[in-house]
Amino acid sequence: MTDKETALDAMAGDGGYGLGKVCDHLRFKFKREGKRFWAGDNVSEYIDDKMKEQLIDEATTAFEGVLDALLIDRENDPNSKGTARRLAKMYYNEIMAGRYEPTPNATAFPNDTEGKYDGMLVVRSELKSMCSHHHQPVSGVAYIGIIAGPKLIGLSKYTRIAQWCARRGTLQEELCMDIAREIEFATGSSDVAVYIQATHGCCENRGIMAHSSLTQTTVLRGAFQTDQSTKKEFFDNIKLQQEFAPR
Ligand SMILES: [Zn+2]
Repeated sequence: MTDKETALDAMAGDGGYGLGKVCDHLRFKFKREGKRFWAGDNVSEYIDDKMKEQLIDEATTAFEGVLDALLIDRENDPNSKGTARRLAKMYYNEIMAGRYEPTPNATAFPNDTEGKYDGMLVVRSELKSMCSHHHQPVSGVAYIGIIAGPKLIGLSKYTRIAQWCARRGTLQEELCMDIAREIEFATGSSDVAVYIQATHGCCENRGIMAHSSLTQTTVLRGAFQTDQSTKKEFFDNIKLQQEFAPR
C-alpha cells in the first residue's frame, strides 16, 4: 500500500468514507461530532502531520481548478506554474496556520510569593491576519494588558498566543475577543484588556479603496472594565508605547 492508501485506510473505520478525500472525511466527522469549523476555529486536534500533507495535496488540486476557472495558463506561464501548490502551502502553514496548530505552549511561572508583581503589564504584539469575508490581509498591532495574577507567562508568549489567534480567517471584533479569552486562560488572570489597531486589505484593495482603513477594537474585562483608573492606565500605557516604540 502507498502512504496515501495507508493513511486513508486508517481512517476508513471512522465513518467508512474509504478512499475518499481527507477533507471530506474530516468535514463529515466535524458535522457528526458537532464540531464547529468556521474560518476562525481551530481544528488541530483532528489533524496529524500525515493528514496535513494529504490536505495540502487536496487543496493544491482545488486551487488548480480555481486558476483554470480564472483562465490562467498554469501549464505555460512560468509565474503561474506551481502557484496552486504555493497557495495551498501558504494557507496551511502560514496565513491560516492558527487553525491547524495546537495552542502555543505557555509555561506559567508562579507569582504568589512575597514581593510578587501585582502591577499592570502591557505587551505590544504585531499581528498579521486575514478577513474571512474576502481573504484579504489584515495588518496591525494588539496591545494586551493584564493585572498580574498568581501566575505569569513569558513575555514572548503573549505575542505567540495573539498570532496564533490571528493567523486564521477572522473579523477584527472576534479576534479581539479570542485573544482576550486565550490570555485569560493562559495567565489565570480575569483582569485582561486587548486593544487592536489594524488596516484591512478588503477596504484598501477593493470595495471602497480607502487607503486609511484603520480600525480600532477594544475588549475590557474585570478591573479594566469596572475601574476607571485601571482603564486609563491601560490607554496611557498604549500612548507611551506608540510614542516611544522602536520603529
Ligand atoms: Zn473583507
